[in-house]
Amino acid sequence: MKIDERLEKYCLIPALSGFEEPIMQALLKDLKEFSDELRTDTLGNVIATIKSKKPTKNSLMIFAHMDQIGMVVKSINAAGFLTVERVGGVPERILAGKAVVIQTENKEIVNGVIGTFPHHFTPDDKKYVVQPVGNIYIDIGAKNQSEVLKMGVNIGAPVMYEPAFRKLANKRVAATSMDDRGGCAVIVEVAKALFKSRPNVDVYIVGSVQEEFNLRGAMVAAQQLLPTAAISIDLAVACDTPDMNGKNSLTLGAGPVMGMYSFHGRGTLNGLIPHPKMVSLVVSAANSLGISLQRHASVGALTDASYVQLVGNGVACIDLAWPTRYTHTGIETSQISDLEELAKLVTNVAQIFPANFEPARGK
Ligand SMILES: [Zn+2]
Repeated sequence: MKIDERLEKYCLIPALSGFEEPIMQALLKDLKEFSDELRTDTLGNVIATIKSKKPTKNSLMIFAHMDQIGMVVKSINAAGFLTVERVGGVPERILAGKAVVIQTENKEIVNGVIGTFPHHFTPDDKKYVVQPVGNIYIDIGAKNQSEVLKMGVNIGAPVMYEPAFRKLANKRVAATSMDDRGGCAVIVEVAKALFKSRPNVDVYIVGSVQEEFNLRGAMVAAQQLLPTAAISIDLAVACDTPDMNGKNSLTLGAGPVMGMYSFHGRGTLNGLIPHPKMVSLVVSAANSLGISLQRHASVGALTDASYVQLVGNGVACIDLAWPTRYTHTGIETSQISDLEELAKLVTNVAQIFPANFEPARGK
């Protein structure tokens, strides 16, 4: 299966943070043939091990989060309308009139729509106003509260954007949960290549959980594996659009992205300054493959590599990414060639990762 086919398959599987089971099952199935050991943990992380040529004390963890943003049902009113709370960074300004799916207690999918003023009767003072999440409501067609409950929808049920995968020109695609099913597709490609060629150190391929909720699912995997080094695979925000032009230089089709600095100052006081030896490995891999690398330093977003680096005696971490437009909107837009090159780059980094890698600084 090619990376774009796998990406399409993964983007069409709705799986909210904390409800990763459907995507977890897909990853378990796909990683089975490319791993020596395969397991899940209490939180739902999928952990595949690819053994090295010869045993060494060093190991490398390569991870991508499986979960996606969305909402949970907060209340069901007498007339059968649902209110919600957000899970992760859902932009309220895109919600009115959006199609959603809700996962029932039996893991079935129920369709819904986010209601809004009928255009013809929108009050003048509401025409250009974004409704906060507390004001929005979902209509699943039910006539009253008991019908909603009979459909298996109760308080706490996960709500997600209706899954979509649209092919655009230039092998670009616009999809729901490109964040981080693109990363999931990449790590399976990497596992496929490494399982054949065998790395110098044990490699753990991890599909992690709850990144959009608390950024710490991958940390739980790292606590069990205690890897020497780790690579996070997630998207980076491309600003090559009319409204964002100039905010950063990341461009679709210009190749994979190497994170040089991230920090999130709003609530989550964390970020990542990559380990210098990981930067060197990535640069040599890109040079030897003839892949151009986009460097990225920014404040406002981070990945769970920020937490993974703090595990045990410390883990040598780096963020690798591909550029994506319109993040968290349900039409996240990426170019397939960037994902293909990212998969090649990560594979090569894992292949050249030395058995005697010394993570301690100053050596
Ligand atoms: Zn992400």
